[in-house]
Amino acid sequence: GTPTHEHVSLAEDWVASNYSPLPVVISHAEGAWVTDVEGRRYLDALAGYSALNFGHLHPGLVGVARAQLERLTLTSRAFHSDRLGPFCRDLAALAGKELVLPMNTGAEAVETAIKTVRRWGYEVKGVPDGRARIVVMAGNFHGRTTTIISFSDDPVAHDHYGPYTPGFDTVPFGDIEALEAAITDDTVAVLLEPIQGEGGVILPPDGWLRDVRELTRRRGVLMVADEIQSGLGRTGTTFACDLDGVVPDVYVLGKALGGGIVPVSAIVADRDVLGVITPGSHGSTFGGNPLAAAVGQAVVGLLATGEFQQRARQLGALLDSGLRELVGHGVDAVRCRGLWAGVDLDPRLMTGREASHRLLERGVLVKDTHGSTVRLAPPLVVGEVEIQILLDAFAAILH
Ligand code: PLP
Repeated sequence: GTPTHEHVSLAEDWVASNYSPLPVVISHAEGAWVTDVEGRRYLDALAGYSALNFGHLHPGLVGVARAQLERLTLTSRAFHSDRLGPFCRDLAALAGKELVLPMNTGAEAVETAIKTVRRWGYEVKGVPDGRARIVVMAGNFHGRTTTIISFSDDPVAHDHYGPYTPGFDTVPFGDIEALEAAITDDTVAVLLEPIQGEGGVILPPDGWLRDVRELTRRRGVLMVADEIQSGLGRTGTTFACDLDGVVPDVYVLGKALGGGIVPVSAIVADRDVLGVITPGSHGSTFGGNPLAAAVGQAVVGLLATGEFQQRARQLGALLDSGLRELVGHGVDAVRCRGLWAGVDLDPRLMTGREASHRLLERGVLVKDTHGSTVRLAPPLVVGEVEIQILLDAFAAILH
């Protein structure tokens, strides 16, 4: 058989089936392009679920990683490294906050945010111990740990993993009245994605984020923005919250923070919130390790110039207008912010999964989210040529 077929059957034999990857076996990549084991090239329009915002093998990031690999990779937090302080200083400055708590994966950072706001509830707000509640949104995706899937309403992610962690109240995404009604004296935080990525790049109604900010401030509740997928340039701004001029109390970051090289996540907040975390009360062997911190600081450096945000805005406008032309021609709806789009296909035409297969045949890699929705999130290093390739391929599969 072909090398592709051989690799796929090896994976089918030996890898647990928690994903169903498209039948492409990638062996090399650079920028927005990947090459498979048979030498075919594809435009990567998923970008590692936005973990590759700066493209594959970004020379600056690879250079920093390589230099760090030859110097120091791990100390554990039992000792200081010369990398962690500078990374956290720069990330805090990027977010306009005072403190950073570094972790590794997105789910860990969400867990860290949950622990932090509960502690804040008990020690600062004065909620009776064990009673803290967090309001979350219907259709959320925050990761895969047992606590996080406890408040997922996606049966595939949730079912048969109980017993579930209590303490969460779900309201419809974008419904400010339901949110207000769900807040009680025991509520410590509202946890939201400013744009729901896994949900299908779902945008809230205009003004909702600002209303959430005003409401949480008025009711003495923390606003936690999970910007793991939406943040770090994707939407044409540093954070998706910036689109509405909103500053949450806690940012949860991951994915692109590690430059697609190492897992790096963090929560970023002011001292009045993150100060509740004391020595021994939380931690991670790898969290904030020197390699992660070096890459993370370089990522922050890339974002500090605003160049990637600007590219995402300009090219996103091109993507948006091109996709809009397809509405009524096999596409039902398009939701675009920066270089991030949810495209709802006419379900009579094909599923998102089928669309992904057809785009693969045309040399473009994407991933469906739910049903007939495809998510597009090319690396922010693409140019107009790549956007046109993506649009042409999309138009072609609709015929
Ligand atoms: N939060 C959001 C908004 C995400 O999109 C994701 C991943 O898709 C996560 C959390 C979980 O991140 P990880 O897969 O690194 O645990």
